[in-house]
Order: sequence, then C-alpha cells, then structure tokens
Amino acid sequence: MASKFRQRRWALAVPFFTQSSTFSELWPETRRHIVDVLDRGKYSHGHKVVELEEALAAYTGAKHVVGVNSGTDALVLLLRACGLRPGDEVVVPAFSFVASASAVVLAGGRPVFADIEPDGYGIDPAALAAVATERTRFVMPVHLFCQPADMTGVGETARGLGLAVVEDSAEAIGMRYGGTHAGLLGAGGVLSFFPTKTLGALGDAGAVLTDDPVVAETVAALRHHGRFGPTAAHFPAINTTTGAVGVNSKMDDLQAAVLLAKLDRLDADVERRAVLAHRYTELLADVPGVRKLPSVLPRRADVRGVFYVYAIEVDRRDELAAHLAARGVGTETYYPTPLHLQPCFADLGHRPGDFPRAEAACRDALALPLYPDLREADVALVCQGIRDFYRFAEAA
Ligand SMILES: *Cc1c(COP(=O)(O)O)cnc(C)c1O
Repeated sequence: MASKFRQRRWALAVPFFTQSSTFSELWPETRRHIVDVLDRGKYSHGHKVVELEEALAAYTGAKHVVGVNSGTDALVLLLRACGLRPGDEVVVPAFSFVASASAVVLAGGRPVFADIEPDGYGIDPAALAAVATERTRFVMPVHLFCQPADMTGVGETARGLGLAVVEDSAEAIGMRYGGTHAGLLGAGGVLSFFPTKTLGALGDAGAVLTDDPVVAETVAALRHHGRFGPTAAHFPAINTTTGAVGVNSKMDDLQAAVLLAKLDRLDADVERRAVLAHRYTELLADVPGVRKLPSVLPRRADVRGVFYVYAIEVDRRDELAAHLAARGVGTETYYPTPLHLQPCFADLGHRPGDFPRAEAACRDALALPLYPDLREADVALVCQGIRDFYRFAEAA
C-alpha cells in the first residue's frame, strides 16, 4: 500500500524504534477515532478515554481500568490508593526503570531494594524475604522485557510476610501468569503507553488495572484533583467534593484514539514480535561474546511472555553498541545504572557490590531493535554486525 507515512527511517539503517510502516495501516481506524473525538469536542478525560478503559478491561480481564497520563503516574496513584502511608517501605528490584522506585518516593514511601533472580530479571523471592522489615508493607515485582516475574514465589513470600503486592506491569501488556493478565495478580498493576511500549501512544499515557473497586475509585479521583463523583463518570458518585489532594493526570482523548486503533492489532503485533525474537535467537545462538539470550522461563505456572524488549548479555557491551551505531544500528541500554546506585537514591546508603546480579545486568545487557515494522532482513543485518564485532575482536 502506497503511503505517506512509509519509508521515513531517517538516516539509520535499522533504528532502535520506528512505526512509520505499521502506523500507515492503522491510520484509517485512528482517523475514525480522532474524528469522533473532534465531533464530541472533549479532548481530555472524555468519552474516548472511557471507551479505551472499557476495551482494555475486556482485553486484560480487569474489573477496572483507570486511564491516566503516564505509567509513572499510574504507579504513584496506585500506591496511594492501596493505602501507602508516609514512611512505609516498598521492596523494589534493584534492576528496573527508575520510575519503579521514584514512584514509591513520590507516593511518600521508602524504596527498599532487593536483587534479581539468578536466571531472569524479576525480583528474587528469597532476596525479598531477606530485606523486609517490620515497616515493609508492599512489594513491587516488575515484569521486565519478555516475561512476568516469578509471581508464585513472590506471592508466597508476600503472604508469609503480610505484604500487599503492587505490580509494575508497565511493560507487560499481553503477559499472563497462570492464565491471569499481569497487573491482576495482587492489589493492582499499571500499564504504560509510552510510544516504544508494546501498546504505544503518540505521546505519554498510562493506566491502572485492578479488580478492587475502592482502589479503582480512589485512583479515578486522585487523577482528577481528588474529585470523586460525576467526573469519574463510570463510577458511582460517592462524593462530589474534593476528598483528597489529587493531581492532574487526566489522559488525552487523542492518545486514547490512537491506542484504541492499535489495540485491535495488539495480538498480531505480539505474534510478530515473537517471530522476530525467535529469528534473533537462531542467528545469535553461536556467536562468541554473546553470553545470554532471552527466553521465557517456565516458572511454576503457565506463563505467556511477550517480547517487549529483546535484551542480550554480552562481553564489552558499550564497545559493541558503538560498533553497531557506526553501522547505523540503534540499540538501547536498559538499564545503565542499578536503582541502588542512582544518585537520587544516594540517601539510602548503598554501595557497588550490594546487588551483584542487578549490577551485572546493568553492565552487560543490550536491547536490540524489536518492533512490528522491523523486517527479517533487518534482524539479519543487526546479527551480522554483532558477529563481525566479535570476529574482529578475536582476530585482533
Ligand atoms: C515504561 C516504564 C515505566 C514508566 O512508564 P511511563 O509511561 O514512561 O511513565 C515504569 N516502569 C517500567 C518497568 C517501565 O518500563
């Protein structure tokens, strides 16, 4: 199909992310939703947002979905709605996006870090048990890259310690654990619709997922200056005045329009991502210097992974990234610094060596391009670049 969106890959041979081709296919449906927004004349926190919330509830099986302005806001408001009190401790894995821990601070709590599992990037349930104190009230497992955390182990440990489970499922749309969608395995979870995410908007947006009506109602109020009542149109009006100090984290209807169009083809996108990931795994299987390829671990429950990120662990990661960049291949470092060594958490007093698995992942992991626009020839080009880097390194 000839398209005005196609073939704008800027200068890079294989950018880390682009959606110019697939978005052209989505444009007629997106346009229909945008025209609907214009016709109704409400551009923020309007009908399109409610339509998206309902569609996401149907997709995930959540009893309640509350649209907000970002995944980060979703985490902050979810923690507040779950009753986090000032000074409460929340155990967070040391390997994650900074928002997992900053959300705890923004909600008034204190992050306590724990190392990740030996074979995956989820929080290690044994490490969780070791760091919890009498002030710990929550654990926040993060479902990173391609699979959910070990929710059987986390759930058992949390029950034993009396902790509530709040999931950072920002990356986890489509992931399931024992048949349940990520984000619905504890008190609640979140989704991020940041553009590069598996379901990405054309800007920032996020949502809270929960089966708990009180949590949903509280988040719905907090996102809109703390106003309960008619503004949270799809919840029963319990109070028309401001009940708590809230924020402005309303979702834009134009983002909801884009997301509704994309949600229709999410399962096809997830399958496409799996095909591309499988191709990477075939082509990288015997490359010296590539030490670890991603795979979805069997866990102790039936798990459906989703390849949001294809991250490999390699020798001389930063040199490899520079070599690929010189060939026009974009990569990303998810995540360059473990949370316990982020300057913004310096007051927690951690040192290098405190969480060795998280530190190793930050040193060695490199995310390769992975998105529905990517062609199999692009995957081959990326893999050839990696192979050449280590072949040259061996010869030198
Ligand atoms: C993307 C992401 C977030 C934050 O979502 P935003 O929508 O960017 O605010 C939080 N946690 C994890 C693990 C993420 O990947």
